[in-house]
Amino acid sequence: MELSRRGFLKLGAAATAGIVIFEPLGLKRALAAPPKGFSVSKRVGEKTTICPYDASGCGFVVAADNGQVINIEGDPDHPINRGTACSKGASLRQLAADNPRRLGKVLYRAPGGSEWQEKSWDWALDQIARKIKTTRDASWRERDDDGYVVNRTEAVASVGGASLDNEECHLLVKMLRSLGLVYVEHQARI
Ligand code: SF4
Repeated sequence: MELSRRGFLKLGAAATAGIVIFEPLGLKRALAAPPKGFSVSKRVGEKTTICPYDASGCGFVVAADNGQVINIEGDPDHPINRGTACSKGASLRQLAADNPRRLGKVLYRAPGGSEWQEKSWDWALDQIARKIKTTRDASWRERDDDGYVVNRTEAVASVGGASLDNEECHLLVKMLRSLGLVYVEHQARI
């Protein structure tokens, strides 16, 4: 692209002013299109929250209208991210319960099976409780090899999900330790 001194000065002045206009240089359209957003008059039910994905703790603003999440964006007043979001945080909208692409039912694949079967939550919770009880009873260790009291099972582990918040993690770990688990991990660290 040929750029005369006059054209260069025009471009520099326009860019400095935040307006990028390439028409005089033979290009077809401006690059700085305004971002699409929701109507300011509908900004109801805005709440601030913390990103659940990792320990950076970035702040976000969630806007809801009639119980439906309509927008999630970085909180410009938050001291950590100041309105920005990494690619994971920018996809926070996908966590909302009204996301039609989010799996909302139990799918079970039997050992050795190749097909997924739809099951109820009652069935799934009953299965989980039964398997934990059976495995825990069969693997319980009251003392380790040196005779110290340990009261634990090494045959059950837990891997937490990234969307667990602080309070959920607190309750989950309390429950897991009370069951005697020692292998407690979190998906975001793997
Ligand atoms: S926005 Fe990104 S960096 Fe910030 S807490 Fe979420 S995942 Fe972590």
